[in-house]
Amino acid sequence: MQVFSELSQLLFPTRCYGCNAIGISICSNCRRAWHPHYYLTHIGGLRVNSAVLYSPTASKIILAAKERGLKGADELIIDAIVHVLSRANFDKHNVRLVPIPSSAINRRRRGRSFIPDICDEISERTSIPVIPALRILRKVKDQSTLSAPARTKNMHGAFGIAQKIYPRGDLILIDDVVTTGATVCEAARALNSHGFAVLGSVTACVAQPLR
Ligand SMILES: [Zn+2]
Repeated sequence: MQVFSELSQLLFPTRCYGCNAIGISICSNCRRAWHPHYYLTHIGGLRVNSAVLYSPTASKIILAAKERGLKGADELIIDAIVHVLSRANFDKHNVRLVPIPSSAINRRRRGRSFIPDICDEISERTSIPVIPALRILRKVKDQSTLSAPARTKNMHGAFGIAQKIYPRGDLILIDDVVTTGATVCEAARALNSHGFAVLGSVTACVAQPLR
């Protein structure tokens, strides 16, 4: 086993998710850009609690988890969200986590549902239940190159309620990054319009707002 692990390190050395340097999964330089703090933003009446300011390093860590399925990068995102959940002072016994769902295309491409999977792990760590209450009703564009108004339009009416579920307690939306808030605000709107109480959102990263 030892030999195998040494051989695999030789062939596929561990690299930093942020800068690709050989060594550990996050080097001390990149750790500075990914060090969970606590940021509170108000977007369209929604309280968004986040751990890390979005940066080129944060973007690489998110992509390593999301697009390359690297477990260690998942762990960094999970740690960040768990950190915020503990800092935000939610009533642990009365809240439920609602993951932002992935589109069918992304689910197929990645072989998993990114945020729902992350939420399951967070639930195991925190004992806060997960309610997969949302589903995507129609095709949405990749938002990375869209302006703030285009994002709002892109997400408008995109979410529906996944099934007949009547969760008690307050809901917390979970996502990887908040930029304009178009996604979490639309998700909150869909849930509110079905009579659910959304307490706010928790994301790993918060980006500078777009115009
Ligand atoms: Zn690095």
